[in-house]
Amino acid sequence: MNTQNRPYFRSTDYIGSTRYRKLSMASLVIAIDGPAASGKGTLARKIAERLGFAYLDTGAIYRCTAHYLLRELGADADDTAAAIKAAEYVRDHLNAEMLSNPDLRVEDVARATSKVAANEKVREILLNAQREYAKAPPEVNGLPTGGAILDGRDIGTVVCPAADVKLYVTASTEIRAQRRFDELALKGEKVIYDDVLSDMAERDQRDSERSVAPLKPAADAFIIDTSNESPKDVLSRAIDIIRGHLAEQVAKNAP
Ligand code: C5P
Repeated sequence: MNTQNRPYFRSTDYIGSTRYRKLSMASLVIAIDGPAASGKGTLARKIAERLGFAYLDTGAIYRCTAHYLLRELGADADDTAAAIKAAEYVRDHLNAEMLSNPDLRVEDVARATSKVAANEKVREILLNAQREYAKAPPEVNGLPTGGAILDGRDIGTVVCPAADVKLYVTASTEIRAQRRFDELALKGEKVIYDDVLSDMAERDQRDSERSVAPLKPAADAFIIDTSNESPKDVLSRAIDIIRGHLAEQVAKNAP
């Protein structure tokens, strides 16, 4: 097995043990959920890099839907029929380029996204692609991966309820709004902190209170509060949780 780019399989690593490798022949799934600007995306990306896993930002799929609805269909975010049409388009045309479009990140798209994502039919249309990704993650750097990391709002509860490890990443609303404000200011956008804060609170409320797949931690998720921790500390805590959890599985499966 080529172990390059797969530090998960470092021979010096406990998780690189033969017994673990046998266990890990099945692809692992790590689910990361949490509210906007909680740091979950950064964390998911870093874990994926560290472990050589494939990474899917499921928020980008919903953002693509809202983007298509606003920019291509010229519809309003409350137009249910247009939202369904947009979701079908995204399901049928989804690719890496679409998911990395910088226009997905602008505020009107973010606002429309949480409206579109509250639609049950839209979620149903987009569910399969996420599950398929978790089941058969694409290669990373031309190598088969040890697993997939998906981040979003309902990964641990709905998309992958049987995920091997579930993390719920959160931070106070004020801190998350400050992070988003700094990010926008850095891009040169003229924004007012109070507007960012109220926008974020509104979006969180819609995501948490919707009747279908609301934002909430799975019962078996590990909660990570990033309010007062550096991204580096958050990453090492998450890796510890993942290692600890997998070591338990190895012990459980020991002959
Ligand atoms: O994570 P991100 O902020 O990009 O997500 C944008 C929006 O997409 C969220 O506010 C939420 O409404 C929706 N979303 C969702 N379910 C997911 C991921 C994102 O409803 N799994």
